[in-house]
Amino acid sequence: MAQVPIDPGLYTSDPQAPQLVGSRCNDCGEVTFPKQDSCPSCTGSATEEVLLARRGKLWTFTIQRFPPPVPPFKGEPESFTPFGVGYVELAEGLRVESRLTESDPDKLAIGMDMELVLEKFMEAENGDEVTTFAFRPVV
Ligand SMILES: [Zn+2]
Repeated sequence: MAQVPIDPGLYTSDPQAPQLVGSRCNDCGEVTFPKQDSCPSCTGSATEEVLLARRGKLWTFTIQRFPPPVPPFKGEPESFTPFGVGYVELAEGLRVESRLTESDPDKLAIGMDMELVLEKFMEAENGDEVTTFAFRPVV
């Protein structure tokens, strides 16, 4: 069984130390995720790929208690379990929308330290494990 990323351009797939793939503008320094070919801040096109910090702080969050609409949701609605969703502010200053590994709101707090992990999203038809990224509280 292989692990395959849900999108090959979103993150590096080292299960011990995954990193999100973003881009930095060489003109104004704006960092974006996912990576972009042109800068949303100054519209320049001199962007380069950068690997983002693995840790950040929880900026805000909510708990997704029902399946998102199918499409675009790619999961299986019948096996849906609630999960946390939040924005994590990275050292680079950008806020990344992400799944959270924790779905109990009592165990989440705005401002807490979070780190990037990969988790199983679904099983592909060939048995491969499709991963997605998520942030988990640093304990
Ligand atoms: Zn720029």
